[in-house]
Amino acid sequence: MKKGKIFIISGPSGSGKTTLYKQLLASQNNLAKSISVTTRPQRPGEQHGRDYFFVSRKMFDYKKRAGHFLESMKVFDNYYGTPKSYVYKLIRSGKNVLLCIDVKGAEVVRRKFPEAVSIFIKTPSLEVLRKRLTDRGSEDQATVDLRIKTAKDELREAKSYNYVLINDSLQRCFAQLRGIILHEITQ
Ligand code: ADP
Ligand code: 5GP
Repeated sequence: MKKGKIFIISGPSGSGKTTLYKQLLASQNNLAKSISVTTRPQRPGEQHGRDYFFVSRKMFDYKKRAGHFLESMKVFDNYYGTPKSYVYKLIRSGKNVLLCIDVKGAEVVRRKFPEAVSIFIKTPSLEVLRKRLTDRGSEDQATVDLRIKTAKDELREAKSYNYVLINDSLQRCFAQLRGIILHEITQ
């Protein structure tokens, strides 16, 4: 059986990764999203086991020591990890896997899986990024400032990705992303 492919979607916080991957999963049934483990508190509307596996810091550290993660990172103030066994199980069974992870985690996965398809999502400018983060309303001003500062470093990594998409019109960006996935899946 043909092995599944790994797709990595990464880019600064607020660039539109979550919005895009949710649309993608709704339109694509041969793609499964890896569900990360996190110490971040659950947000309203999020479901344990669907959006993330929400765990304590103690449990996260235990899983990390036990070799549970393909990669794990501290992103802003919380810890996130990609479960190794789930990703391996999916690709072995021929399913394509989507990882929606931060830029540093993406670097680790690209090193371990050079054949993974990596897609960097960015906004047309930092001003647009700031506006989207502010309008999203999930972070306070200091947090938005930190995310913008981090985004400047993350943008320098875009050149290492297979594809870079500018999320200006959501509809256009989604069509481009979907086109890339379909093209790569049929390769
Ligand atoms: P990320 O997952 O990368 O942090 P989100 O998907 O949460 O980003 O998007 C950040 C905010 O920007 C959300 O409020 C989302 O609704 C909005 N957004 C995403 N794409 C666009 C777009 N093309 N135009 C305008 N707003 C957008
Ligand atoms: P949020 O807390 O807003 O859902 O995600 C914050 C950041 O953590 C986003 O950039 C998201 O892509 C990233 N992230 C989510 N899961 C993982 C993971 O398993 N590993 C890494 N490295 N980053 C992750």
